[in-house]
Amino acid sequence: MKFIGAHVSASGGVENAPVNAASIGANAFALFTKNQRQWMSNPLTDKSISQFTENCNQHGFAKDKILPHDSYLINLGHPDHEALLKSRAAFLDEMHRCELLGLKLLNFHPGSHLNLISMERCLSLVAESINEALSKTSGVIAVIENTAGQGSNVGFNFQHLADIIAQVNDKSRVGVCVDTCHAFTAGYDLRSEQGYNETWDAFERIVGFSYLKAIHLNDSKKEFSTHVDRHANIGDGFLGLDFFRRFMADVRFDDIPIILETPDETRWAEEIALLRSFVVA
Ligand SMILES: [Zn+2]
Ligand SMILES: [Zn+2]
Repeated sequence: MKFIGAHVSASGGVENAPVNAASIGANAFALFTKNQRQWMSNPLTDKSISQFTENCNQHGFAKDKILPHDSYLINLGHPDHEALLKSRAAFLDEMHRCELLGLKLLNFHPGSHLNLISMERCLSLVAESINEALSKTSGVIAVIENTAGQGSNVGFNFQHLADIIAQVNDKSRVGVCVDTCHAFTAGYDLRSEQGYNETWDAFERIVGFSYLKAIHLNDSKKEFSTHVDRHANIGDGFLGLDFFRRFMADVRFDDIPIILETPDETRWAEEIALLRSFVVA
């Protein structure tokens, strides 16, 4: 079965996210558990935590179909030691918030080398950061997202994801989220049937589907291999509807959260319904 939703607003409190997700007909969703543009946020209140679970239950959202995303400020591969410590502390706080909410996954962009260290060194720092966070928490899986490779972001190649995983001690608590827009502009040509098959074959060979914990399902405003991260609504971008038809009929993506991060949120309900119509019964 496909579990599909969008990255919904948690404005006014995390407990509002499941309500917002239900309103667009979702059976999965993503959220920020704190303000994503600030380093510090108030701790979650007991009331907010219990209301979150109550709302998830009421609207039928299983906790493992919810994909929290960390703050955009965090860089777990930061070349500067002080800045790295700040990112690691913030990431640990994000992990703790997930634990409190009973969530199983935490999605994040691996990091950036800022042209100050090698790609390889940056990937090792990311893995060290994950090891540290996992050693201080329990139950939450660190879910690394592939990137478009914009600027000095690492993680645009499936091999980068595999290199990080290889250096993580507890393999049962690390996974990946593939963003289809990022993969496409990073050079994985998902448009044709052949490109689709080659991309996922490469994913299986290099990373492995056993590590796939979530999908960000986005079309792309930018052309193939441009290394630019600009999401488009489903069918409006260069990926095209054939890709989405093929994807929704593919059982390898059953039972994990599939999350829209498309720019026009007024279309999410319609996009979810369209995507569900592509599922082959
Ligand atoms: Zn994404
Ligand atoms: Zn993106």
